Amino acid sequence: MALERLLRGFADFRLGYYREHLDLFEKLATKGQSPKILIIACADARVDPGILTQTLPGELFTVRNVAAMVPPAQIPPDARHHGTSAAIEFAVRGLGVEHIVVLGHALCGGIGALVDGRESAFADYDYLSTWTSIAQDTRDLVVRELEGRPREEVARAVEQASVINSVRNLMTFRWIADRVEAGTLVLHAWWFNLTEGQLHAFDPASARFEPVLGVESEATVRRGTALSSIMPDRFVAAVAGKAPEF
Ligand SMILES: [Zn+2]
Repeated sequence: MALERLLRGFADFRLGYYREHLDLFEKLATKGQSPKILIIACADARVDPGILTQTLPGELFTVRNVAAMVPPAQIPPDARHHGTSAAIEFAVRGLGVEHIVVLGHALCGGIGALVDGRESAFADYDYLSTWTSIAQDTRDLVVRELEGRPREEVARAVEQASVINSVRNLMTFRWIADRVEAGTLVLHAWWFNLTEGQLHAFDPASARFEPVLGVESEATVRRGTALSSIMPDRFVAAVAGKAPEF
């Protein structure tokens, strides 16, 4: 039944969307892709970047993994299979994207498992906890600072702090740091609240994720430009009610 749904969907796509965008598909096929934006999102079925941003084929280069995480650069590179890093490298060095958006989201199962640690139902999985341990230090910091707060509040803070941690990890790739310093690449930390249908962007001025209201790309770019030096502990301090220091 579920697969029939897919096949019916594709039949509809071929007759509808594909035909309506025939020129675009032809151009993409003959001239190749040249997206200006790399978006790193969660594999969660509820958070599809293309649908959330209403973009067309060719506009977004998308990486989706558990909890929208970016691992730190492996220096020097080794022979392991760094799928996320390889996709980021192609987007930055191969396609020359101008923006990288890390998009976390509310009710993230991967972050929930990280928050719950050994109590998690997924604790004995072969790969999951190793992957989400990318944000282990960040998680520990949040849990320590928000001790006694409800789990949902802690989980949300870890979801958001993990996005900041991933942005920090992006800066460990030299070909990203170089471009950010040259002003040709801007990094963004976003978080989607799927229960309210609201997008939030990290604002270095308040050290909080603030709702994105309307179209304010200039402000968003300004925030992103100031983001590169942000550390998760500043965000956590702001969430914990301590004055951020910038
Ligand atoms: Zn998720």
